[in-house]
Amino acid sequence: GADRTKNVLILMSDTGGGHRASAEAIRDAFKMEFGDEYRIFVKDVWKEYTGWPLNNMENQYKFMVKHVQLWSVAFHGTSPRWIHGVYLAAIAAFYAKEVEAGLMEYKPDIIISVHPLMQHIPLWVLKWQGLQKKVIFVTVITDLNTCHRTWFHPGVKRCYCPSEEVSKRALLDRLEPDQVRVFGLPVRPSFARALLNKDELRVELELDRVLPAVLLMGGGEGMGPVKKTAKALAESLFDKQTGKPLGQMVVICGRNKSLASSLESLEWKIPVKVRGFETQMEKWMGACDCIITKAGPGTIAEALIRGLPIILNDYIPGQVSVSILNQPEQQEKGNVPYVVGNGAGVFTRSPKETARIVAGWFSTNSDELKKMSENSLKLAQPEAVFDIVRDIHDLAGQRGPFADMPYDLTPSFSNFI
Ligand code: UDP
Repeated sequence: GADRTKNVLILMSDTGGGHRASAEAIRDAFKMEFGDEYRIFVKDVWKEYTGWPLNNMENQYKFMVKHVQLWSVAFHGTSPRWIHGVYLAAIAAFYAKEVEAGLMEYKPDIIISVHPLMQHIPLWVLKWQGLQKKVIFVTVITDLNTCHRTWFHPGVKRCYCPSEEVSKRALLDRLEPDQVRVFGLPVRPSFARALLNKDELRVELELDRVLPAVLLMGGGEGMGPVKKTAKALAESLFDKQTGKPLGQMVVICGRNKSLASSLESLEWKIPVKVRGFETQMEKWMGACDCIITKAGPGTIAEALIRGLPIILNDYIPGQVSVSILNQPEQQEKGNVPYVVGNGAGVFTRSPKETARIVAGWFSTNSDELKKMSENSLKLAQPEAVFDIVRDIHDLAGQRGPFADMPYDLTPSFSNFI
């Protein structure tokens, strides 16, 4: 009946912090808004195969033989445009099987994909199972600007775009205006809804209460030129004439333990805090005055909410060929014009230049810091995640009280194997 708890399956891949952060943001927002009305499952489709296909040649060969046969039997000529060649077909078939297993296990009323490669095959499997009219399928895009085309599929009920730029691409790529919504990138509610006071945060986090603070990080994995930048900042933020610091620095290394320990072993002329993986990023961002990071969409969206000017010092370039299936989200370049073009930050790969800019912001060029902070806040979309889950809730309501889900998966795809 109508009051039945509905199941929501979120398809993600934990290849970077970004997709997981978005998936968890959506899950938490569902809980906050609708409590027990929904049961949320977050499934990492690629988990068991991290490192594959480079790790085991023999298994790889068996895997291919098995799945290519499956693919040719089951998919005929219907495979998505981007699947070409034996290799991709094998991966696609493997993936289809995983998706079908997910359907049987979680029986979702709603499927939310936060991954560029998780539209075509899940939609195909739904069709295969005769479920495409009964299950609501939506995509939440986690790229801020230039998107890989695999994000767009005309068969989705909704495609949630983080920016107008992305929605334009969606429309160019055959989606109808009715399918497209622009709410922003979903950011964890703990972040978006936090009421924070900088002075109190500085006390809590044991930072200097007066000195301006720069936050230096490199995504969940602590990537990019973090160490070189930290060293350059320690020089530029130390005023040789007065022998006093112009500012302080927080370095968050994420899961990069060797980075953290190597930074901890250094002596600094300015106040420095080196941290590992932090679970309360909103507090660290709230305590600082600007941020230096690689161009990860998650970190950027969060920094905008906190009104931080952003120095982007790296991006992960798009990867070509088959590795796209293992590292699909490695396309951060498009996030750069989003930030720079909107006056919320700058891009430079040079640690020295980065250090020079921050020293300027903390002394003679504080007007620019202020202006960029305002621009940053203008771009912020803290309510995005709530707008997204409310819209999905409305879609579920429109569908009316469906009969208890007809998940009698009959001609199972898995039976072919
Ligand atoms: N993050 C975190 N703790 C850390 C480092 C990073 O919670 O110590 C979060 C960060 O706030 C952001 C995500 O990890 O939400 C990183 O996502 P992003 O898209 O910036 O980069 P990725 O790590 O996915 O490449």
